[in-house]
Amino acid sequence: MRYDIITLFPEIINSYCMQSITKRGIEKGVISVNTYNPRDFSKDKHKKVDDTPYGGGEGMVLACQPIFDCYNSIEKIEDSQNYEFIMLSPQGEKFSQKLAKELSNKKQIVFLCGHYEGFDERIRLGLKPREISIGDYVLTGGELACLVLVDSISRNIKDYLGKDESAHNDSFSEGLEGLLEYPHYTKPREYMGLKVPEVLLSGNHKEIEEFRRQESIKRTKARRPDLLN
Ligand code: SAM
Repeated sequence: MRYDIITLFPEIINSYCMQSITKRGIEKGVISVNTYNPRDFSKDKHKKVDDTPYGGGEGMVLACQPIFDCYNSIEKIEDSQNYEFIMLSPQGEKFSQKLAKELSNKKQIVFLCGHYEGFDERIRLGLKPREISIGDYVLTGGELACLVLVDSISRNIKDYLGKDESAHNDSFSEGLEGLLEYPHYTKPREYMGLKVPEVLLSGNHKEIEEFRRQESIKRTKARRPDLLN
């Protein structure tokens, strides 16, 4: 998977991606992450990328020219079925595990991160991105939202996670039929009087599987009954 990220703050993306599992994914060649700064494409003599809104009001609006030129400079794969262009926006379709899985089948995703008041509407009209939101709240910029997508999409790509970190049994995933994950325990067997459930120490895999399934259902019923449908 190749991620191309248009952002005014490439350091935010690069510093996150050079840590932990994302870094390993890049080193293994399973994903690649490239950043592009619209400021480098600005034709303004002061490298301005934004301006005041027509009609008045507060804040600055990201202007068309630097964004169009930046987007057009990115090399795209020929195969449109395997290509996606995403604008991060609080007004977009809501991101989910299902969408992360769907997007993990693509070969290239270009992300457009906003900032300030957002984008000149003609960017949306002209470039026709798929708009995605990570939730009903407003962030200062699209970088955090973009990283949320990169991280969760990548977890669904073959060979991205090590064997021990499989995403198959994560909450919301197919392995758990969309339910929340069961609770985990590790050593010691007892901590501050709290004991590990006996069944997990039994070595009986069938019983352990059934226990975990029941715990998953119980937890989902209590916390997210909407998922049981
Ligand atoms: N004025 C815009 C509005 O009310 O819809 C919000 C602009 S926000 C301050 C700046 C940028 O942060 C947006 O252009 C978008 O890229 C990003 N952003 C903010 N909240 C987001 C969310 N919930 N999901 C995805 N991106 C978000």
